[in-house]
Amino acid sequence: MNRNLLVTGGAGFIGSNFVHYWVQNYPEDNLIVLDALTYAGNLNNLKKLIEKNKISFIKGDISDKSTIYDTFVQNKINNVVHFAAESHVDRSIKSPDSFIQTNIIGTFNLIEVFRELKGKNVSENNWRFLHVSTDEVFGSLDLDEEPFSEETKYDPSSPYSASKAASDHLVRAWGKTFDLPILISNCSNNYGPYHYPEKLIPLTIINILLGKSIPIYGNGMNIRDWLYVEDHCRALGKILLEGKALDTYCIGGNNEITNIEIVNTICSLIDEIAPKYNIELPVIPSKKLIKFVEDRLGHDKRYAINSSKLNIELKWKPRVNFQEGIRKTIIWFLNNKDWWEDLKE
Ligand code: NAD
Repeated sequence: MNRNLLVTGGAGFIGSNFVHYWVQNYPEDNLIVLDALTYAGNLNNLKKLIEKNKISFIKGDISDKSTIYDTFVQNKINNVVHFAAESHVDRSIKSPDSFIQTNIIGTFNLIEVFRELKGKNVSENNWRFLHVSTDEVFGSLDLDEEPFSEETKYDPSSPYSASKAASDHLVRAWGKTFDLPILISNCSNNYGPYHYPEKLIPLTIINILLGKSIPIYGNGMNIRDWLYVEDHCRALGKILLEGKALDTYCIGGNNEITNIEIVNTICSLIDEIAPKYNIELPVIPSKKLIKFVEDRLGHDKRYAINSSKLNIELKWKPRVNFQEGIRKTIIWFLNNKDWWEDLKE
């Protein structure tokens, strides 16, 4: 049976990669993107798919329950992958309101509509709600601590991670109380095409190309577990189709790297690759652009994920290692200058 799949936040970074992945692998499904097109949402990410009628796009805010309700009923939605969120930690520290509104109230609206339409909108066979969340809900690890797993207790540090933790709790509680086929994933940091230029990796790439300084928080020794976005999308696909209802899955790249290592790697790679693309870099070597800046408030020291449950139960593991993924990402940004120049404006 074909799915009527609603993807919220499908014009953002991971959401748009997921939409491309899904259309390529499940072209028979009816895919509807619902996105408010905030500063982080970009229709250019989906332009070709919309032009070729491969997907439907609805501009709408998940804070508005009636929009969600109408979208579900009109499209007979039976599967949801929920990406829509405010996602940038720095913004959540400066102005948390929209994080509460979208991440908590918006998720509540979605899961409420899903509950209200149980048994009414569509057959309950094949019915799924996948809530896409982050490893940041678990807080920070010391260097000698075991990576996060499905058993780790929640301990969020930032307004962003606290709002995501709240949304995870809502989805899980609705699943248990109302017997809904929900699934939750908690993933580590992603990188790849369509990554909004405020985040570390795209910011570093673009600032090198523009000859601007590369800001690094504190001493640059914070560690993240980086995952190429396509590997994340593949994991989400497996969880949606094969995951056990009410279960949580941790997704990670098994790839812990400090921020300073990331930036140094990108600098060296761009210095090597740019001449092959006839690109003249304003400052060589690019490492000269690195500038250490005052640390982020409440900056988590380390994130790391143990994804053995996903590996054993659903036979998923990452395919793209960091060296390969970061090279692909840099080349994507070199080839898609129009995309990021628009956003830089
Ligand atoms: P993003 O900021 O790039 O995209 C978010 C999308 O949601 C945008 O298209 C935006 O327009 C849309 N949106 C925001 N508010 C909305 C609202 N009220 N109604 C409808 N749409 C709205 O985010 P991302 O990095 O692609 O992250 C997607 C999801 O994955 C988020 O839930 C995030 O918490 C989670 N996640 C991200 C990472 C990561 O490394 N980026 C890692 C793990 C989990």
